[in-house]
Amino acid sequence: MIDVIDPATGEVAGRAPDTTREQLDAVVAAARAAQPGWAARTVDERRGYLRAIADVVEANTGELARLVTREQGKPLPVAVAEVAGLAYWLRETATLDLPETVNQDDGERLSITRHVPLGVVAAITPWNYPIGQLSFKISPALLAGNTVVVKPSTFTPLSTLRLGELLGDVLPQGILTVVTGGDDLGPWLTAHPGIDKISFTGSTVTGRAVMAGAGASLTRVTLELGGNDPAIVLPDVDPEEVAEQLFWAAFGNAGQICLASKRIYLHTAVYDRVAARMVELAEQVKIGNGLDDGVQLGPISNTRQYGTVLDLYRDAVDSGYDILTGGPLDGLFFRPTLIGNPPDDARIVREEQFGLVLPLLRFDDVDEVIARANTSEYALGASVWSADPEAARAVAERLDAGTVWVNEVMHLSPLVPFGGSKQSGIGVESGQAGLLAFTERRTLTVKRR
Ligand code: NAD
Repeated sequence: MIDVIDPATGEVAGRAPDTTREQLDAVVAAARAAQPGWAARTVDERRGYLRAIADVVEANTGELARLVTREQGKPLPVAVAEVAGLAYWLRETATLDLPETVNQDDGERLSITRHVPLGVVAAITPWNYPIGQLSFKISPALLAGNTVVVKPSTFTPLSTLRLGELLGDVLPQGILTVVTGGDDLGPWLTAHPGIDKISFTGSTVTGRAVMAGAGASLTRVTLELGGNDPAIVLPDVDPEEVAEQLFWAAFGNAGQICLASKRIYLHTAVYDRVAARMVELAEQVKIGNGLDDGVQLGPISNTRQYGTVLDLYRDAVDSGYDILTGGPLDGLFFRPTLIGNPPDDARIVREEQFGLVLPLLRFDDVDEVIARANTSEYALGASVWSADPEAARAVAERLDAGTVWVNEVMHLSPLVPFGGSKQSGIGVESGQAGLLAFTERRTLTVKRR
């Protein structure tokens, strides 16, 4: 068994099975055996199952959310919203269709292209949204007629394990199975010949390893990887209002969001006022155990991530950058930390912090800031902030990112595809395109004369 640590207290929050290779083989074999029967059901029947799963998730929101907070650290209301998001995604995904294209239908020939399931999907998730990340994977994978083997992060397996148990009462055996374990389990799953598709969310470094492992069997991959999202703030904004929006865009979930704003570019005309207000907010925010009432920011989620954040903070201190506020607290707690105008080649600007340290960067010229924003190797999300949405849009059109928002961030929908380009990933999740990523095209041709 593996101990799961509560990052707020350092106590053991629970234990998860350490799956052996033989046990994994048996799980994959059972998923393979169950898949043809699942695919043989009508799409409407599978839609019914998605809705039934959503009902179970909803009925158990309190228990699942508490587990998320205990293993991940986020405030309980945020965990409740995360669990509710899964139910919502399941129901909305159930409204999508698997289209059929009639290529030819005449006296000579009938030709139809359909989307058929791939087989067994491995869904590998990170620790920042253990339940939320499943929304983008299990909803479309199951609707398309695949069976799924879910592998949560070693740091946050408890809520996913409980979800798997609960869904065992609704779904036939072998349709969705959760496996947990140590560092070997991901590579075993990735290279497993019984897996037909890997839907992976995690870091870019691990994504490369996943793709290499998948190469041996030409297993299909969708990779949702790291980001270093720029937010560009034009001179006409209301500085106080935008400061508050950017504060949560950057520091929500203790900064541990792939689509968090990670580099804030402020026009010189508003730099001082936005920075001053963000400092105020950073010094007022309530930090603590996510189970306690009124807590707005929990701890950093695990010791490994804490090490990354602390290292970037120390590098900023050692380099003599202007620390406007912040720094480490006890345990895995960290204050929101703002770094005033570090150089573009600073590590805190170039690297993904995925935590509570944020660079505020000054700019004078829009062309120059677009070029600076686009130099990153990542291209996941980006945002532009302005009182004039059309002017912001003209800037947004020139940014390299899978999704660019104007005057908001992180608005996702089950009906809209999202994903990263460059080193932020391959493929998309959600929407029609996200559903079809769990299928193969199959063409049937009947010669009539
Ligand atoms: P990670 O890459 O360390 O781990 C992700 C998952 O992969 C975990 O389940 C882990 O156990 C597993 N894993 C580790 N090594 C593996 C291997 N060799 N083969 C197969 N699986 C393996 O990432 P993390 O630290 O859990 O998550 C943080 C990262 O995820 C950040 O970079 C963040 O930006 C990214 N992320 C991206 C998105 C997105 O949608 N693009 C969303 C959330 C997080």
